Amino acid sequence: MAAPLQNAYTNKRVLDRYLSLEQPKNVILATYIWIDGSGENVRGKTRTLDNTFKDVSELPIWNFDGSSTDQAIGKNSDVYLYPCAIYKDPFLRGDNILVLCDTYKYNEKPTETNHRKSCLEVMKRAEKHVPWFGLEQEYTLLDQDRHPFGWPKMGFPGPQGPYYCGVGTNKVFGRDIVEAHYKACLYAGVKICGTNAEVMPSQWEFQVGPCVGITMGDDLWIARYILHRVAEDFGVVVTLDPKPMPGNWNGTGAHTNFSTEATRAENGIIEIEKAIDKLSKQHLRHIKAYDPKEGKDNERRLTGLHETSSIHDFSAGVANRGCSIRIPRQVAADKKGYLEDRRPSSNCDPYSVSEVLVRTICLDE
Ligand code: ADP
Ligand code: MN
Ligand code: MN
Ligand code: MN
Repeated sequence: MAAPLQNAYTNKRVLDRYLSLEQPKNVILATYIWIDGSGENVRGKTRTLDNTFKDVSELPIWNFDGSSTDQAIGKNSDVYLYPCAIYKDPFLRGDNILVLCDTYKYNEKPTETNHRKSCLEVMKRAEKHVPWFGLEQEYTLLDQDRHPFGWPKMGFPGPQGPYYCGVGTNKVFGRDIVEAHYKACLYAGVKICGTNAEVMPSQWEFQVGPCVGITMGDDLWIARYILHRVAEDFGVVVTLDPKPMPGNWNGTGAHTNFSTEATRAENGIIEIEKAIDKLSKQHLRHIKAYDPKEGKDNERRLTGLHETSSIHDFSAGVANRGCSIRIPRQVAADKKGYLEDRRPSSNCDPYSVSEVLVRTICLDE
């Protein structure tokens, strides 16, 4: 085997000896996971808990040093972790769990990057519309030197064309990471529904959905955690940057597919058209909610080229991948179903995206 590139490489197989050690029956390991001050990166830390809780409401509130995550100042650094949802831990297995948390300041107000709280409130108010979401999470694999994984170190791979849904050496890079992630998500309880290689080499996508209300944001954030964590095992970096390579290379998005009871019913296409009309009047508000820098990140991606629309204009069309909103061909044929909002950036917060869609389309606010 060639010498590994990684400078902190360990032989991952040695861990199996220790993972197979019998764990005391009365305890589990709980990894608490949260979104940090960047609004894009996840953090996690692990503790032992008695194996007596029945559901998430019985898990203890915990805290962390927010001055090390851009969520507090050193003199007043404790930030609270409120458990929100439990997943099975695909890394430590057994009864061990991943615990998705949201974050609260010393005064019990949500931190600046806690968008879950307001999203949940909106989802509760819109419950009767039964909003479903399906999110297509694109991402790019990088080497530890932050050069795209598998690209020649000097120069570039051949132009885009053979890579999307590609098969074969020199067409796709890192499929083992993608498949490990898929299996780990299924095991954890994430509603992952597909995956494919993307247009730029070493760019991939997985899809989550359809999920009802808040569960889309929850499942997507855990799927992102699992992705970073799996990639760690392979010594590869995952970036959610919306335009990792400038120039003639596709950017990275998080297309968000949305439907309600009304759009899924017979002749729901009329409701889809009404929804598009509402979206057309709120373009700027949506752009602000679709990346952590209120449009600044997406500016590099939404150029009007590379299967995107311009960040400055709103547009919609059937089967058109150069629009803000695409009505899938099958939806037009069935006259019911869902719409695809192609604007959200790969590093968007799915809580912010789903919240603003429901506010605009269901609650008219
Ligand atoms: P694309 O053709 O844009 O690449 P994908 O197959 O990657 O589409 O993704 C389709 C997404 O749409 C999936 O996440 C799926 O869960 C979601 N989806 C399917 N039906 C619905 C629906 N009725 N409402 C919301 N989302 C849906
Ligand atoms: Mn897709
Ligand atoms: Mn895609
Ligand atoms: Mn899509």
